[in-house]
Amino acid sequence: MNIGSTIKLSNGVEIPVLGLGTFRSEKGVETQKAVAWALEAGYRHIDTAAMYGNEEDVGLAVAQSGVRREDVFITTKLRNDDQGYESTLKACEESLRTLKLDYIDLYLVHWPVTGLRGKTWEAFIKLYEQGKCRAIGVSNYTIRHLNELLASTPLVPMVNQIEIHPFLYRKDLIDFCMTRNIAVEAYSPLSKARRMDDPRIVSVAGKYQRSGAQVLIRWSLQHGWISLPKSVRRERIVENAGVFDFELDQADMLTLDSMDEGYYTVRPDWIPDKWV
Ligand code: NDP
Repeated sequence: MNIGSTIKLSNGVEIPVLGLGTFRSEKGVETQKAVAWALEAGYRHIDTAAMYGNEEDVGLAVAQSGVRREDVFITTKLRNDDQGYESTLKACEESLRTLKLDYIDLYLVHWPVTGLRGKTWEAFIKLYEQGKCRAIGVSNYTIRHLNELLASTPLVPMVNQIEIHPFLYRKDLIDFCMTRNIAVEAYSPLSKARRMDDPRIVSVAGKYQRSGAQVLIRWSLQHGWISLPKSVRRERIVENAGVFDFELDQADMLTLDSMDEGYYTVRPDWIPDKWV
């Protein structure tokens, strides 16, 4: 595995295993610089969302990077307020305009909004058929939301982007996705840097002479998920990509696997199970 490694989605599209997260990367220079540094460091996958307010900066930084558009995998996500059939079609056009792109590599339903997500998915299929998105998927879907969707759709989502780190190891949901060929993307893979001083992480990191962040990213990659660490600092963007020249042994993987405590970094009212 290296920084250019990809996972093949169910429709054959290749997605790089490491992506730069951009949630809370500020609109303007901060996001532009982060994306430019990431591309310089070898990242070829950027994760943004209409909600983050920085799509324009992501598009600009990619366009100015000298890396060919087709060599960068760009994900964006539909804002909750835009869910519904016609409004989704419109919102996708708006994201394409803001990003200044002809197509999105992966378009995600950001949250399973009650009452609207069914129609939203129908619009996603339309966008996919029109070639506006090379792949489509969902985010923050639980097994319940996925079962509901799979019972009605002719097209299974290619991805589910969910919060995963050792303090929130959602094995049942992950297994559900992986056995149905729905690729799993781990968001907040660093637990938003809130728990990197946990002694077990510090101890594993010491053993490999790596940082806690590198251990957390490596754990997610070794499980076969796509990992999306966010940083706006050049040295950390580089550090977070330095995860391809060591391997956690099985005992350390099991240590990290055993740390689940159901700890969500999202606000309590945003925990995905709460979306009926
Ligand atoms: P992460 O787990 O990636 O943590 C980001 C935090 O860690 C930032 O505060 C960052 O600070 C810090 N950090 C980054 N690298 C290091 C390092 N090497 N050492 C110490 N601290 C570090 O959290 P996110 O919630 O941002 O998740 C990652 C991405 O996943 C998001 O940016 C977004 O793209 C996606 N996401 C998707 C969601 C969804 O609903 N689909 C929800 C949440 C996230 P700094 O920037 O200052 O370096």
